[in-house]
Amino acid sequence: MDRRHFLGKAAAVAAGLAAAPSVLAEEVKAGVILPGAVPTDGKAGEVSTGVEDHLKVSGYVKEKAHRIPVVAEVDVVVAGGGSAGVSAAVCAARQGASVILIEKANFLGGLWTGGLVLPVLATHGKGQTQAWDKATHGFCEEVCDILLQNGWAIDPLNPRVEPEAAKYLLDKKLVDAGVVTLYNSTVCGVTMHGDKIESVLVDCNTGRIAIKCAMAVDATGDGLLFSYAGDPYEARRYHMNTSYRIAGISAETRFGRPTPIPGMRVTGHGGREAMDGLDVFKVSAKQQRDRLEIWDKMEQKKKEPGFENMYLVELGPVTGVRVTRVLDSLHNVTLEESMEWTRFDDVIGMSGVCDPFTYKGRRITKKDRPVWQIPYRSLIPRETRNLLVAGRCFGYDQGITWDAREISTCMVTGEAAGTAAALSVKAGCAAKDLDVQRLQHTLRQNKVRLDF
Ligand SMILES: Cc1cc2nc3c(=O)[nH]c(=O)nc-3n(C[C@H](O)[C@H](O)[C@H](O)COP(=O)(O)OP(=O)(O)OC[C@H]3O[C@@H](n4cnc5c(N)ncnc54)[C@H](O)[C@@H]3O)c2cc1C
Repeated sequence: MDRRHFLGKAAAVAAGLAAAPSVLAEEVKAGVILPGAVPTDGKAGEVSTGVEDHLKVSGYVKEKAHRIPVVAEVDVVVAGGGSAGVSAAVCAARQGASVILIEKANFLGGLWTGGLVLPVLATHGKGQTQAWDKATHGFCEEVCDILLQNGWAIDPLNPRVEPEAAKYLLDKKLVDAGVVTLYNSTVCGVTMHGDKIESVLVDCNTGRIAIKCAMAVDATGDGLLFSYAGDPYEARRYHMNTSYRIAGISAETRFGRPTPIPGMRVTGHGGREAMDGLDVFKVSAKQQRDRLEIWDKMEQKKKEPGFENMYLVELGPVTGVRVTRVLDSLHNVTLEESMEWTRFDDVIGMSGVCDPFTYKGRRITKKDRPVWQIPYRSLIPRETRNLLVAGRCFGYDQGITWDAREISTCMVTGEAAGTAAALSVKAGCAAKDLDVQRLQHTLRQNKVRLDF
């Protein structure tokens, strides 16, 4: 197979870590970059996800060449209907673009709703003018406000949502914006025309279909579109957990965290071992082990007073993989930039913060961590001209993984990517050539906060 290795920044960082762990790596709560270079198949139009980097391959088979029917042509295809993808699709459609959203599950929200990771974190951080400042406005705030006002979420600072209500609301937002949503449809490749994605390939029970697009947004969480298109990325490891909901316990007992449904709690299970979320064998085995262990744990717990009537409501149907492929973008946001009030000319939104950590040898509490700006370039791949990336796989350094992949930040990047995709279609330009001031003007009109 013709393989091209990207020995750019990603590989350099990875190689550096392998030789002598940097301070940065130690600061990260969990997770390491996979050792060695991170190759992708850079050949335009070839479909590959660099399987050899994650699984032992014993040989190859060849699929028969076949024509794939084009069933739709739209301005913008959004791959993935998680918190980032829905934000992107709604915001692109609100700018007048025709949009198709492709989602492999039969519901929206991805990890947020399906993974039962219910609290919307990283909404706030230390402000320059205010001690504790809200960073995430725009579409994220719009959605959270509705959830809170209807009693579908608790805790105004970091709304912990009722997942079925969030699924309902996300569907409603897509319908109202005129987005066509394809469920049970898995993005399985792209066709390229030069350095542009010509069509996104989708496997569904009808068969394999192609959707032509002027622009695409990768919101798959796993960076599938940019990996199919051949853009460089880092493959990262992180620990994986399974969240589950329980009920039937007495109010005095402490187990899990409250949810908007009285008497129902949510909690998590699993260790802190960094895992390769792209190794389907290991991830599947871990998911299976978690299910068995949670059941056994529940059976034991039921023997304790107050837990006799406890029952398992559900395990999150989406497996709790935190980070896999992360784009090597035109500018990957760094930990330093997030800590030093860095201003970007091409800012498209802000992130709040999540946890305390050690920075330059000093313990920094959550309350002392500043809100930080997200540059437009961190959503743009190095090679593909009509692709933008949103959600947990946009371009950021390992050191800020904890903030960058939280739901509110995913929604902020989704809103910017969707808006930029629609404006690029209107302007007839590549994502990187878009007039950034026009993008910022539109985002501000939609109440997105851009400055400290
Ligand atoms: C265990 C755990 C706990 C967490 N806790 C919190 C928390 O408390 N608060 C917080 O804010 N964040 C938390 N996070 C992080 C946060 O939930 C995620 O980073 C965020 O929800 C990611 O959103 P996303 O839209 O980028 O990706 P996802 O939510 O992963 O959405 C991606 C979507 O794309 C779809 N998709 C994937 N591949 C394809 C394909 N080939 N074709 C079509 N569709 C596809 C998926 O089905 C999914 O719907 C947690 C994460 C984990 C794993």
